[in-house]
Amino acid sequence: MKKEDIITIQITDMGVDGEGIGKLDGFTFFVKDAVIGDTVQAKIMKMKKNYGYARLMQVTEPSALRVEPGCAYARQCGGCQLQAMEYKAQLAYKAEKIWNNLKHIGGLTELPKPEIIGMDNPWRYRNKAQFPFGTDKKGHVVTGFYAARSHNIIPCTDCRLGVEENQLILQKILDHMERHHIPAYDEKTGKGILRHVLLRKGFKTGELMVCLVLNGRGLKAMDELSASLQEIPGMTSIQINVNTRNTNVIMGNELIPVWGKGYITDYIKDIQYQISPLSFYQVNPVQTEKLYKTALDFAELQGHETVWDLYCGIGTISLFLAQKAKQVYGVEIIPEAIEDARRNARLNGIKNAEFFVGRAEEVLPEKYERDGICADVIVVDPPRKGCDPAALETMVKMRPGRIVYVSCDSATLARDLIYLCGEGYEVKKVKGCDMFPGTVHVECVVLMTRVEK
Ligand code: SAH
Repeated sequence: MKKEDIITIQITDMGVDGEGIGKLDGFTFFVKDAVIGDTVQAKIMKMKKNYGYARLMQVTEPSALRVEPGCAYARQCGGCQLQAMEYKAQLAYKAEKIWNNLKHIGGLTELPKPEIIGMDNPWRYRNKAQFPFGTDKKGHVVTGFYAARSHNIIPCTDCRLGVEENQLILQKILDHMERHHIPAYDEKTGKGILRHVLLRKGFKTGELMVCLVLNGRGLKAMDELSASLQEIPGMTSIQINVNTRNTNVIMGNELIPVWGKGYITDYIKDIQYQISPLSFYQVNPVQTEKLYKTALDFAELQGHETVWDLYCGIGTISLFLAQKAKQVYGVEIIPEAIEDARRNARLNGIKNAEFFVGRAEEVLPEKYERDGICADVIVVDPPRKGCDPAALETMVKMRPGRIVYVSCDSATLARDLIYLCGEGYEVKKVKGCDMFPGTVHVECVVLMTRVEK
């Protein structure tokens, strides 16, 4: 078998990135977009010693789990790797992924397969969208998404993960650009004005935000565009973000108000949040509630506990916990996120949450060893790379009765659990939560309790 050969192969497994996996004549082949159970024709793109990569050409016998993707662009976009698989099978795939990592990396061989909390409607769940603008071959301004691994824009104003209002907003902006001959930004030349549009919606409040990311400080006839956008029910905030740097980073630091408030409001359960264009906020608010409720259930707070929330972001979990604990301490590396956390605490009249800016691995040892602040429960929600060893060491020294680990990468989670299991903790509960239906990503919550007295 060699490059360019067409093979017929049965897909018997799926990899961590959602790719189909099959075996043929002793070779393992990875076929993107193929679903477990499919028989497909595929073209070999690359051959290695005992494995290869092949491109899906045709599904000859579809898997019982295969469905028509809800979005016509699913394959070109690559953002949703699992759209061709029915939702129940997506959840099973995610349970398997967590289970495999905990067993094979974490050595937790006795663990039952975890339950995954799914969505009733796994579409239009994102409250935030960022659309790039560019120019097509005929010179028309377009917006859509970048084709997988490129910066070529495929025109499409309706990502099925985003809210329905996005289409109307984007169409109004496209019409405005066309009417006034406003050029979109060109990454190659650094010329042109409109780079991106950031859209946000408060799911509980219905409030909408539009933020135009400009290579400059204003757009021609901005008042006219603003008036037209204000006609959309729910419109609350229209702003400009200035980004004149030649960079892939979407947002600049400066915001210019155009109309309305500088933020929108939303709720997670009954806690209110003010969200500005630059704030971090969970993108799937429906599942976020379920995720945090799981973390709170696992923490089993009685009201007398001192709780730490490491990697706290804008303090969403901290404020959730504060309602049931005596005192919560949040730690986060980004100063602006901590400013948001403190403001959100004030906004909700929460007085028993205190926030520190800094690295978890530095703040925690300092507060424990120098100030003697203890912990009954520690919650962590680190980025993909997991917890820093110094943070884990101090956590163990503080001897909390419970550790609740919220993770977006079950491989690094498994690695950290090995350490904690070796230092007197055991895994009691594991639950997955599907924050990103259609994609291979899955969030996971683990409860550990202290074994040694
Ligand atoms: N718990 C929050 C956000 C979790 S995302 C929520 O649910 O909304 C992980 C956070 O960890 C990010 O906000 C990131 O800025 C922060 N972070 C990354 N490295 C860190 C470190 N070494 N110490 C503290 N925070 C860190």
